[in-house]
Amino acid sequence: MSSIASPSLASKARRPLLKSAFHGLLAGTALSMLGLSPVTAQAQGFPDKPISLVVPFAAGGPTDVVARTLAVSMTKTLGQSVMVENKTGAGGTIAATHVARSAPNGYTLLIHHNGMSTAPTLYRKLAYDPLKDFEYVGQVVDVPMTMLGRKDLPPQNLGELVTYVKSHKDKINLANAGLGAVSHLCGMLFQQAVGTELTTVPFQGTAPAMTALMGGQVDILCDQTTQTLPQIKAERVKLYGVTTMERIAALPDTPTLDESGLKGFQMVVWHGIYAPKGTPSDVVAKLTAALQTALKDPGVVQRISDLGAVIVPEAKQTPAGLHDWLKSEIDRLGPLIRKAGVYAD
Ligand code: ASP
Repeated sequence: MSSIASPSLASKARRPLLKSAFHGLLAGTALSMLGLSPVTAQAQGFPDKPISLVVPFAAGGPTDVVARTLAVSMTKTLGQSVMVENKTGAGGTIAATHVARSAPNGYTLLIHHNGMSTAPTLYRKLAYDPLKDFEYVGQVVDVPMTMLGRKDLPPQNLGELVTYVKSHKDKINLANAGLGAVSHLCGMLFQQAVGTELTTVPFQGTAPAMTALMGGQVDILCDQTTQTLPQIKAERVKLYGVTTMERIAALPDTPTLDESGLKGFQMVVWHGIYAPKGTPSDVVAKLTAALQTALKDPGVVQRISDLGAVIVPEAKQTPAGLHDWLKSEIDRLGPLIRKAGVYAD
């Protein structure tokens, strides 16, 4: 059996290819006569079907809340449904790998947080490079975190919590959303600051982690106000502090961890939207414009404010604004994580 296809088969196979190449040439000529490049033409028609906005954590969590808030507004602007798709696991790296490998056509996007800057160090066998495998749509919001305990945890303030954690370290369960999640990073910083290693319990996102905290199955959780604020206001959890250097308007009477004794403790969660590498620049520009419109949408502005988050300045809502920040965070955090000797694989 010859290993090479017979000429007749080969020439038949080639004919459709030649035909489509000829049509492509014709189309390209027509477009250039209209002063449009094929790329612009793509953007002109984009989007002509629904867009998937992939969230690396479980529905109902802080990342999901930001994504769904944006999706409503971006759907109006783009004229096609922006549909949130939760793809969980491995601290967000499963979702990031999926998007990096998706068709570069603007119909599959990723929304992710600081985890994009820590994964390259935490995961030594990472299936993507955050600085090579994506196009950058723009940054979105910065979100403070809150240090929480289950409602009946005995300590009444952060100082008492630190003492309690040290004397009960074998009994305390610290919840997070997997290695590389910001709840994991905040928990790691807390353990380092207190000088005590705790048992950590990973979930597919901090939505299930919060459910476990309110159910008393875990003792401590550090999570973003975009999820925790309603539970704090409803007094379903105990609040020990916020992770920003200054107190936040949403919780004016709550001390920062820094002022409560954990000097320099700071953890703010930034978010970006990414597309696969190779997504046409005109398509990316259309997505960036839709993001910027959403971040001016009064409904979005109000909801983000109600959840204690802060919309980033417009200069950061850009491809360069996201790329340059991501690179600076990878450069800053890599040595710190390597020094801590924390690896996920
Ligand atoms: N942001 C994640 C979530 O939305 C939680 C985390 O990263 O800790 O569930």
